[in-house]
Formats: sequence, structure tokens, C-alpha cells
Amino acid sequence: MLRKIFVFCSSLFVLILISGCAEEPQPQITYDYGLPAPALPPKAAPKPQPKGFGLPGGEWVPPAYLEKGWTAIVIHHSGTPKGNAAIFDEWHKEGRHWEGVGYDFVIGNGSDSGDGEIEPTFRWTQQKVGAHCGGTPGNWANVDGVGICLVGDFNHTYPTSRQMQSLAQLVRFLETRYNIPKGRIYGHNTTPGANGKTDCPGRHFPMYRFKSMLD
Ligand SMILES: [Zn+2]
Repeated sequence: MLRKIFVFCSSLFVLILISGCAEEPQPQITYDYGLPAPALPPKAAPKPQPKGFGLPGGEWVPPAYLEKGWTAIVIHHSGTPKGNAAIFDEWHKEGRHWEGVGYDFVIGNGSDSGDGEIEPTFRWTQQKVGAHCGGTPGNWANVDGVGICLVGDFNHTYPTSRQMQSLAQLVRFLETRYNIPKGRIYGHNTTPGANGKTDCPGRHFPMYRFKSMLD
């Protein structure tokens, strides 16, 4: 009899244990093999876009049906302490009776546009012949050369570091896109065949240092 009671009590105890356990939340089984998380499918890298450009779409690339093959780059200073593309546009229209500003790009110095801000003009967006470097045989510098003007009078001051960085960024873009060798990057006053009377882009424009920035 005692044995039966013992067996009954043991069974009851086991039952209580089992039912008690069944009410507790079961531990979640996880498998951690110490492996790295599975790699996500590779994302396409975003194409680098030149910054500081005002064209819709934020690109320097001209419309395909207009785009010309440019072969040289001519760097200028404005010879004025202040200015921007709209101001030079006004001056060149009224003062010189040109179609508008003669340069393809203007790089601000923080006076009338941002320091280092790159403004393309209608000469670039419409791929028109420039009016920035006269006197060359067949007008080649205006026809085939991209004219970039930095705002400032570099006979008396220096370009800002942001202007220099923006200039390097723009020139690198042009070099690459049009296969322009470094030897075809000129200051206005050293452009072959150009009117020799100018000191543009100014005595203090650091051409040697600028070219080393392109390496
Ligand atoms: Zn010039």
C-alpha cells in the first residue's frame, strides 16, 4: 500500500512539474555560429556629380545636340574686386555691345556670388563661341577654348583657396571630358597668338601651383 501511495505521489509530482513547465515561456532557440551577417546585394555606386553648378540637373555636361569638342582652357581674372556672371553680362552687353558675358564660366570670390561658386554662362550652356581672348589666329581661343574667369584683381590680391579648388574641379572635369592636355591650359596672357598687352589673369595668379593641383 505504501508503495502504491509513493508511486501515486511521485506521478503527481512529475505531472505538476510538467504542467508547471508547460506554462513557462519556452526559450527561443537561436543558432549563432559566429558567422558574419549575410552580405546585402551590392548597391550601384552613385555617379560623382560636380558641385556648385547652377544648371537644372546639376551637371556641367552640355546638351548632347549642342556639345562641341573643346581643345583648350583659358583662365582669366575679372580685374575687379567684385562681380558675378550677371554683372559681367551687363557690362559686356552695355559697355562692349557683345551678346553678353564673354566667358563660359565665372568663379565667385564671395563678393557678388559665393566664394568658389561656379556660374556657367549662356556661352557654355548654349555652347557658343566665347568673347574672352581676342587676337588669336582664326579666333581659335574663343572658338575652341573654354574661358574661365575668376572674380578678383590678381595684380593686387590673390585668388581665394575656394576659388582655386573650384577652378581645379572644373578644369579636371573639362580635361577629362574633352581630352585636353595640361599643356593646353593657359592664362590669358600666355595663350599662343593672344593679344600680348594683357597681364590677365594677374601677376599673383599661381599658375604653377594651380597645375600641380591637377595631378
Ligand atoms: Zn583675360
